[in-house]
Amino acid sequence: MKLKTFLDILNNQVPFDSAESWDNVGLLVGDSSCNVSGIMTALDCTAEVVDEAIEKGCNTIVAHHPLIFKGMRAITEDAGYGRIIYKLIQNKINLIAMHTNLDVHPQGVNAMLAEHLELQSCKILLPETTDYYKVQVYIPETDATAFKLQLSKHGLATEGNYEHAFFNTKGQGQFKPVGDAQPHIGAIGEIKTVDEVKIEFMIDASQYQLAQQLINQHHPYETPVYDFLPLQKEIQRGLGMIGELSEPMTVEAFTTHVKKQLNMPSVRFIGNKNAAIQTVALIGGSGIGYEMSAMKQGADIFLTGDIKHHDALDAKTAGMNLLDINHYSEYVMKEGLVTLLNHWLEQQFDGRICASETHTDPYQYM
Ligand SMILES: [Zn+2]
Repeated sequence: MKLKTFLDILNNQVPFDSAESWDNVGLLVGDSSCNVSGIMTALDCTAEVVDEAIEKGCNTIVAHHPLIFKGMRAITEDAGYGRIIYKLIQNKINLIAMHTNLDVHPQGVNAMLAEHLELQSCKILLPETTDYYKVQVYIPETDATAFKLQLSKHGLATEGNYEHAFFNTKGQGQFKPVGDAQPHIGAIGEIKTVDEVKIEFMIDASQYQLAQQLINQHHPYETPVYDFLPLQKEIQRGLGMIGELSEPMTVEAFTTHVKKQLNMPSVRFIGNKNAAIQTVALIGGSGIGYEMSAMKQGADIFLTGDIKHHDALDAKTAGMNLLDINHYSEYVMKEGLVTLLNHWLEQQFDGRICASETHTDPYQYM
């Protein structure tokens, strides 16, 4: 499998453009025309991770955190992140980053964490919305079929796995051509009544110009009548997860459960130690800022990493329960992504797909 093919599959499953605008995802180091010998997933691309990939015969690393993120002043053998890039290039190892695009994926990092914690009935905590338009066009009944075929041929009016998704309502249109009008039907100064169809269909926001152009091009009238109604809908993508434990737990039992399931030596609790925990919301990595939204949705506790003193004090003052599960808990994506890749690449790739065994948590729990 060419690296280009692999990137296309990843982009199809976990679109790179669904990442945050400040992020840096996709192919960061490498050559998309080369062959993929093996794939290794990692949370962070450290020098030890590159050594492990070389040792395992994997020329492609898929890491969650982008190695190229902040300013980098040199790519040399000496030190710093530049040294890791130097090593990747020297050993012809490709590096792909799947960061916030994997966070917002419905089977991504947050779903993987929720699965480890045995949460049930999980939903996306902050579903994203997409802009679209409902279009309605009024056209003579005799022209409707050919008109719809033209729209459909150009990719308009699709719904999920369905094409040519139109709704038709029969009615009568009326008009009186005046002045310099050159009517397709009717005569100057006379009110004309025509059997028409109101055709309704949906388009993506990106299809607005195309739809307008096609209507004007294929509608028989000199002045077609149509409307674009702007709307929004939730999509199956977004940050965080919220789900239920099979039965309520004490804070102590829950923290023990979290430590065991995530193999974490310690976690930090903020809030009421006597609370009963059943509805759990989480955002892997650094998810502070969304705790209020989690509580409003009924979460008994909000789990994330990188909680600072003032975030903690704010939450405690507001009567919320938080659990800092450490940013490193996102390491569960290594095995989680291997499972997804095995599924996505089933027919395309028979090489090795493995998770890095290198521990990249910079903290030592003393
Ligand atoms: Zn992270």
